[in-house]
Amino acid sequence: MTYDPNNVFAKILRGEIPCTKIHETDHTIAFHDIRPQAPVHVLVIPKGAYVSFDDFSSRASDAEIADFVRAVGDVARLVGVDGSGYRLIANHGENSHQEVPHFHIHIAGGHALGPMLMKMG
Ligand code: AMP
Repeated sequence: MTYDPNNVFAKILRGEIPCTKIHETDHTIAFHDIRPQAPVHVLVIPKGAYVSFDDFSSRASDAEIADFVRAVGDVARLVGVDGSGYRLIANHGENSHQEVPHFHIHIAGGHALGPMLMKMG
């Protein structure tokens, strides 16, 4: 899948639409999800143009990957869910219902999140 430079997170990265930024590093930014599905729901995204986890994990540099992973943990601590617990979600592709085609990790927490996935069947 080729990267669509008009996706909403690309526009956030270019400053064309606003976001509520929580954290920024050389290769990564984090901001609040616009439609939170938990009391804490933030998104961490690389600044580079990667469609999904599959794309990021295969093409990103070691520096980008290290920066991103470190930032995810830092953001979870910044928003205060490291003690109570949180869930990381990265949707890749059609079966996952990925909506925005720029790689992102959701950090969700702030209350008990329940079982991880809907039951099959
Ligand atoms: P996904 O289904 O994993 O692609 O999730 C995309 C997420 O992006 C959803 O949780 C949306 O609520 C969120 N989202 C979409 N547009 C924005 C925006 N402008 N600012 C912040 N979050 C957004």
